[in-house]
Amino acid sequence: MATKIPDAPKIGMVSLGCPKNLVDSERILTKLRSDGYQMSADYAGADVVLVNTCGFLDSAKEESLEAIGEAIAENGRVIVTGCMGDEAELIRAKFPQVLAVTGAHQYEQVVNAVHDASPPVPNAFVDLVPEGGLKLTPRHYSYLKISEGCNHRCSFCIIPSIRGDLVSRRIDAVLREAEKLVAAGTKELLVISQDTSAYGVDIRHEPRMWKGHEVRAHMTDLARELGQLRTAEGKTPWVRLHYVYPYPHVDQVIPLMAEGLLTPYLDIPFQHAAPPVLKAMKRPANDAKVLDRIRKWRAICPDIAIRSSFVVGFPGETEADFQYLLDWLDEAQLDRVGAFRFEPVEGAAANALPGAVPEEVKEERFQRIMEKTAAISAAKLEAKVGRTIPVIIDEVGDPDDEDGSIGATARSQADAPEIDGHVYLRDVGEGRRAGDIIDVIVEDADEHDLFGAPVENV
Ligand code: SF4
Repeated sequence: MATKIPDAPKIGMVSLGCPKNLVDSERILTKLRSDGYQMSADYAGADVVLVNTCGFLDSAKEESLEAIGEAIAENGRVIVTGCMGDEAELIRAKFPQVLAVTGAHQYEQVVNAVHDASPPVPNAFVDLVPEGGLKLTPRHYSYLKISEGCNHRCSFCIIPSIRGDLVSRRIDAVLREAEKLVAAGTKELLVISQDTSAYGVDIRHEPRMWKGHEVRAHMTDLARELGQLRTAEGKTPWVRLHYVYPYPHVDQVIPLMAEGLLTPYLDIPFQHAAPPVLKAMKRPANDAKVLDRIRKWRAICPDIAIRSSFVVGFPGETEADFQYLLDWLDEAQLDRVGAFRFEPVEGAAANALPGAVPEEVKEERFQRIMEKTAAISAAKLEAKVGRTIPVIIDEVGDPDDEDGSIGATARSQADAPEIDGHVYLRDVGEGRRAGDIIDVIVEDADEHDLFGAPVENV
């Protein structure tokens, strides 16, 4: 049975007034899109209607009130925002049924009001950020979304039909957001999209001025500029690239990692290695020479951590294909691997492919790939014992709960939050806080995590 993806709630938007208001509307809609909402072109199809009002002139106020009245008559579930939001009492007196009234530029409030009125549907199949991740992101790491949608048509995926084709953000807007996040205390930026390597393809890599020079909407320019950011303490923040496909230009960001400007980490969702399966999956950048590329990357930047995910039991996957994948993993020696059993998702082209793999075979292959990748991970982590590595602290223990020694949960550069492993620290001493980046000596390792202590306390 195919997994049914619940429908995303739909938002209608009426935007009145000046261009500034339009920009606000766009900003609100961008955020709602990234939270998984869809847009509705008419009142009838919307779960909730946002009216972004203008209150500059009496005539504009009248127009705004008319628009609110129309939205209530046509749909009934209405949230009012914008300049007239400052006159909440007037609006509520005239339209007691409005769900919420928020003022101009109160992005967070209006987005929260939409969440309350029509909660987003978290969805493991289409969401880039783990459930709750956006809201729960501690201040020391932040997700930086560079585009929405995807131009590929992988046969197991329904994202393009839900989120549409690739729509890239302007490079200067992305960099400004990154700069603001770092100024506000972010120590680690996680660059996300459906296909980071394709960033800017839809806008022909349109250049914009940034800090007195032109930068293109292209992954390599983006990576280079992000590498120039500095925290308030003058340190280079960690910058992690997620959802990178191994297009040739990926080679250009590896030297930035070797120089310490980008975090030596690449999240490349390979999904499989056997050519017939990749072909059936219609994967992008399906390059037979990828193993050579990985070797070259490691020659330039020996510490690069490569994370990936794989699907086992894809329709038509033979035992030989699966064995090919295991052998490939032996060669590739990936640092972090997530494995999934193929599951048909309603609406995906792969469901119609011949050669469905029986559940028990899927399960058996899943166990085998897990065993293989756990062994590789354990050996790679074991090799780090005795080394000094930088870690970022996520959480410091409560001294009252611990016998004199304060512990902390941290991550190395090889560990993205939520999806990879941890570095558990002993004796971090007083005064350490989440977001601190410190050098630690690795004292022990298991299959997924490391254990250690700050250099000064060993
Ligand atoms: S690259 Fe493939 S799997 Fe990823 S979003 Fe696009 S179609 Fe889906």
